[in-house]
Amino acid sequence: MPVDMDKLVSLCKRRGFIFQSSEIYGGINGFWDYGPLGVELKKNIKDAWWHDMVRNPPAGPDGQEISMVGLDCAIIMNPKVWVASGHVGGFSDPMVDCLKCKRRFRADKVFLGAFFRLSEAESQAFSPSNHPFDVLITKGEVHRPSAPSPYPDNFLASRAPEFALSCEANGALEAQEHFAELAKALVKKRKLKGDYYGLESKSVNSALPNWQRSCPAEGCDGTLTEARSFNLMFKTYVGALQSEENVAYLRPETAQGIFANFKNVLDSSRVKLPFGIAQIGKAFRNEINPRNYTFRSREFEQMEIEFFCHPDESMKWYQYWRDVRKAWYTQLGIQSERLRPREQGKEELAHYSIGTTDIEYMFPFSDEPQELEGVAHRGAYDLTQHQTHSGKDMSYFDEELWAKADKTQFAGDRKAEQQAKWNAPYKFIPHVIEPSAGADRFTLAVLCEAYTEDTAPDENGKPQERVVMKFHPRLAPIKAAVFPLVNKDGMPEKAQALYRELKQEFAVFFDDKGAIGRRYRRQDEAGTPYCITIDGQTLQDETVTLRDRDSLKQERVKLAGVAEELRKRLRPR
Ligand code: ATP
Repeated sequence: MPVDMDKLVSLCKRRGFIFQSSEIYGGINGFWDYGPLGVELKKNIKDAWWHDMVRNPPAGPDGQEISMVGLDCAIIMNPKVWVASGHVGGFSDPMVDCLKCKRRFRADKVFLGAFFRLSEAESQAFSPSNHPFDVLITKGEVHRPSAPSPYPDNFLASRAPEFALSCEANGALEAQEHFAELAKALVKKRKLKGDYYGLESKSVNSALPNWQRSCPAEGCDGTLTEARSFNLMFKTYVGALQSEENVAYLRPETAQGIFANFKNVLDSSRVKLPFGIAQIGKAFRNEINPRNYTFRSREFEQMEIEFFCHPDESMKWYQYWRDVRKAWYTQLGIQSERLRPREQGKEELAHYSIGTTDIEYMFPFSDEPQELEGVAHRGAYDLTQHQTHSGKDMSYFDEELWAKADKTQFAGDRKAEQQAKWNAPYKFIPHVIEPSAGADRFTLAVLCEAYTEDTAPDENGKPQERVVMKFHPRLAPIKAAVFPLVNKDGMPEKAQALYRELKQEFAVFFDDKGAIGRRYRRQDEAGTPYCITIDGQTLQDETVTLRDRDSLKQERVKLAGVAEELRKRLRPR
């Protein structure tokens, strides 16, 4: 049974996992705050990632240790970084607004959606990055090339020019290009003639337009605005003057800070290829349509690795990271049937990418698995871009290989020797494999995965319905709760002493309020894996009960051994 998102959202608010940002002022779309339990959960996720990927990454494909270092870069960087990375030029979507219902849509999706008479949800799924043609064609939801077309021949031709012109009039050239790309993919898929869509053919422009730009939202008969281009980067100004020269951007990804520091890391830490640089940090995207709770937010945190390697070994490392990253999610309790690595189709790949695998999770709010993380083979693209734009050398010199080279071949010709030294195979731009994960998306997946409704007996043995968050113990916000069974006979003092000992090392909670069954329920909802109760027997034999959240099994363990028992159970495996 998929989790009911309304119930999960309400539990997250009630128990202090996630709040709407600035809720007392009506909130702000696309921004979220983590409450007392949420902040612990997300921190545990980031700590687990840092521990398992940076400090103690799994052995490489040859069984050898791999080399990883960390970095923490500024959120605002020199804006030239974003020109080099392509974000200033290309990080935008064409959008239209409905004048009546005020909703905003991706222009290309609305347009193609109208062509195929798709529902709004279907048009949302309609983009090259969602392999739409395969999906829609295999689902039989669009007519196949062999079937007679239900649309008049000039249907799209009569609309494409208007869309193109409208983009042009609004300076949204990217929108036009994006549409052209979609149209071309469509032409190819449907084996139609190249210029059917008229984008390349000026003559069709004169056949203009009577397409009513109507709102695709169900039940709305509003009209849409012209398509406008939106840059997804948040702009700000550095310094007192709000002028064009002082424009800067909040980073839309953490990766570029890593590339910009490639040489610094190389020179300061003496790492050798292959090695990775990792960073956890905030990223900001002015998403057009933030939705699905925290899934698509405007401020979020990324956990990114740029793994630099020799070009000849890059496919081996690409496969390695795909496997390592998928395995990490299952180790932390995500069921493998809800997890899907999906290799992007050729038409979806960014132009520089040799391959990308999205690791997707079947969120309850969607019929299709959605991206948790992208593992991309980015070739030499980023370092080359920064080398070109900054004029700084971004190559790697393989000292060991050069030391082994037979120098007699140069017969004392110093110039030829230098020439050879500063070129391949000794000096080259490394290839990059980028596993890029979202801390908030994984937190949401962990919350969805953990939410469980079951029954557990109360203190009288009567089965009661309960909500229990079955977090992996490593991720649980509170590791253990300590209870005195009753507030007398020295039990509170013993419980307090144990609580004070444990909190030096673990996130623990003390609770002496209400019936013991109620206290268990509260901890079940918070996802606390262990509850420790000091009872009458403790006073006689110095043992306590340790209750397991999932199996409900209660064991007696030595009071003095509780910390060691928790250590054993919480150790990363
Ligand atoms: P999407 O296709 O869902 O927009 P993307 O392919 O643009 O994602 P990347 O640029 O590859 O995402 O970013 C890497 C990771 O950062 C994603 O896998 C996701 O976990 C996270 N991420 C990206 N955008 C958002 C967002 N708006 N809100 C929350 N997390 C995000």
